[in-house]
Amino acid sequence: MDQVRAVEGQRLGDLNTATLEIELSPELRRSNVASVLTHEIAHFLVYEADLEIDGDLEEKLVAGLTPSLACLIRDNQRLLAWIRERLRE
Ligand SMILES: [Zn+2]
Repeated sequence: MDQVRAVEGQRLGDLNTATLEIELSPELRRSNVASVLTHEIAHFLVYEADLEIDGDLEEKLVAGLTPSLACLIRDNQRLLAWIRERLRE
């Protein structure tokens, strides 16, 4: 199970790999919800890719992917809508 921690050591989000559910801390500030959720989605993608990495390497990979994933989601709504429609075909 992944744990996102704030500087103070508080857990902000978890990906439960048994249920594939993401839990976010109720203590999470509204301004951080999207970034922590995106971080956990990146963990889900790594998990589903079955890369068999964990620990520091997975955290490094996820930390590297998260900003690009967030930009993709934020800045490409038309592209995402187009992809969503094509995937339904
Ligand atoms: Zn993480």
